Amino acid sequence: MTTISDFSPNGDTMAENRKVEDVFDDTYKEKEGPKPPRQIVWRNVVLMALLHTGALYGLTITPSASILTLLWTVVCFLISALGVTAGAHRLWSHRSYKASLPLRIFLAFGNSMAFQNDIFEWARDHRVHHKFSETDADPHNALRGFFFSHIGWLLVRKHPDVIEKGRKLDVSDLKADPVVMFQKKHYKMSVLLVCFGVPMFVPWYLWGESLWVGYFVPGLLRYCAVLNATWLVNSAAHMWGMRPYDLTINPRENRFVALSAIGEGFHNYHHTFPYDYSTSEFGHKLNFTTFFIDGMHSLGLARECKQASKEVVMARIQRTGKGSHKSG
Ligand SMILES: [Zn+2]
Ligand SMILES: [Zn+2]
Repeated sequence: MTTISDFSPNGDTMAENRKVEDVFDDTYKEKEGPKPPRQIVWRNVVLMALLHTGALYGLTITPSASILTLLWTVVCFLISALGVTAGAHRLWSHRSYKASLPLRIFLAFGNSMAFQNDIFEWARDHRVHHKFSETDADPHNALRGFFFSHIGWLLVRKHPDVIEKGRKLDVSDLKADPVVMFQKKHYKMSVLLVCFGVPMFVPWYLWGESLWVGYFVPGLLRYCAVLNATWLVNSAAHMWGMRPYDLTINPRENRFVALSAIGEGFHNYHHTFPYDYSTSEFGHKLNFTTFFIDGMHSLGLARECKQASKEVVMARIQRTGKGSHKSG
C-alpha cells in the first residue's frame, strides 16, 4: 500500500503526483441573480417510473424464483455495484489505485451491468461533484434537497455551470484508457447485453428459470436496487450521520449507506481524503469494495493502493473535525 503522509500548505488534500481534479475548489462562486428555470426531461421521468414499477413487480414475484436465481441476483448486484464503486468511482474518478487490464475489463463489464452512464461521463460528473461540492456546479447538489440529490438530478437538464465546469475539467487520463473509450463507444450495446441480457438469459439457459422471472428479478429489480444504493451516497450520506473529519462540509459517515453501497457510506472521510482507495480508515468493516480491491491486490491485479496515513487523519481530525476519533 502507498501511504500518503506529505503535507501540502493547505492541509492534507495533496497527494504525491496527483493530477486528478477531485479536490474541493473554494474559489468558485455561484452566479448571482435568479437561477435558470428547471427543465424537466420527460423521457427520463417516464423511463424511471417504468423501471421502478417493473422493479416493484419483480419484488412481488421473488417467491416464485428458484434459490439459484436469487443467488444469481445477489451475484449480479455485487458485480454491477463493484463496476461503480471499485471501477467508475475509486479507480477511474479518483485514481486511488492502479488496475491491470483484466481487472479493468471486469470492472467495465460490471459498470455496463450497472447502467449508470458510461465510465467517462460518470467519472467526469463525479470529479465535478467533488471539486464544486454543494454548489450550482455540483451535478447532484445536496443543498437542493433529498429528492434532487437522489434521483431528481437525472430527471432535469443539468445546471449550465455543471456543463461548463465539466468541459473545463482535465479528463486526459480517461481518454488515454482504451478500456474506458471502448466502453464509451459501444455503451448502448454493452448495456443491452450485460445489464439486461446476461442477468436474464444465464438462469434460463443454465437451470431452466423462466425468462419472465429472469427479466424482472436479476434484471430490473437488481438494476433498480444498485441504482438506489448508489444514489443514497449522493442524498442520505450528504445529510445524515457524523462528521468526524471535517465539520465544515456536509458529507457524512452513514453506516446504512456503507452497507447498501458496499463501502461508500464513509462520506465525510471520502470528501476529506478523496485519494484514499478505501474511502474509510476502517479497512473491510462494512466495506466489501475494499475487501475486493485487497483481494485483487493479493492476486497482483491491483497495485499502488493509496491511503491517508494515521498521522494525516489524526491531524485533520484535530484541525477541522470534532477532535475525537469516533465515527458513526
Ligand atoms: Zn468520490
Ligand atoms: Zn459526495
